[in-house]
Amino acid sequence: MIITIDGPASAGKGTLASTLAEIYHLAYFDTGMVYRAVGLDLRLKNQDINDEDLAEAAARALTFAKMTELSKHQEFRSSEGGVAASVVSAQPRVRAALLKMQQDFALNPTFADGTPAKGAIYDGRDTGTVVCPQADIKFFITASSEVRAKRRFKELQEKGLDTPYEKVLADIVARDERDSQRSTAPLKAAPDAYIIDTSDMNIGEVVAKAREIIDNHKKSA
Ligand code: C5P
Repeated sequence: MIITIDGPASAGKGTLASTLAEIYHLAYFDTGMVYRAVGLDLRLKNQDINDEDLAEAAARALTFAKMTELSKHQEFRSSEGGVAASVVSAQPRVRAALLKMQQDFALNPTFADGTPAKGAIYDGRDTGTVVCPQADIKFFITASSEVRAKRRFKELQEKGLDTPYEKVLADIVARDERDSQRSTAPLKAAPDAYIIDTSDMNIGEVVAKAREIIDNHKKSA
């Protein structure tokens, strides 16, 4: 079974995806990691993130092992890391270079320890529209930009990263704009996606709603 969860930054996709992966024993692919890895790789080499030739080269050289290594860097999940990811992800040749790596995971999904899984949960922006249009169930998770900025601000504080709330909100608004305006694979719900607005929901309620949809789908399959 392949499940995709798309939506804007900090809508709750990651928590939902990892919780569902545990409940249904599915592998989990956080596809934002591929773009964060390319952005961080360029920044660590002092290369310009706006240079599509350099970004494409970094994307072509990316492997799961390298991505895992880069994900340990403290800037990987930072606000700046998100902005750099969003800049490189708007470059069509970078997206093209990273597509196969993401699609191949659905053919042979594996847990973090390398053992095979019977299916996968993807989370990202275009996983239901471009990466896995054949997915069994697609979700589009959203929330207001203020609610998402508050969530991200809390998350960053818990990690000891001291970014002012106004900057977090401005970054989210700018990222939304870039993610939805770009010409290749813009952020949008697949026509057959279940849309869940989490602005007034807690994570327990979101998980319960998603489980109801998945269980109904399994019964009718
Ligand atoms: O989800 P996360 O915040 O880690 O994603 C970082 C950035 O990577 C997003 O803002 C978006 O620009 C990009 N992204 C994308 N397509 C995906 C996943 C992430 O363009 N499938």
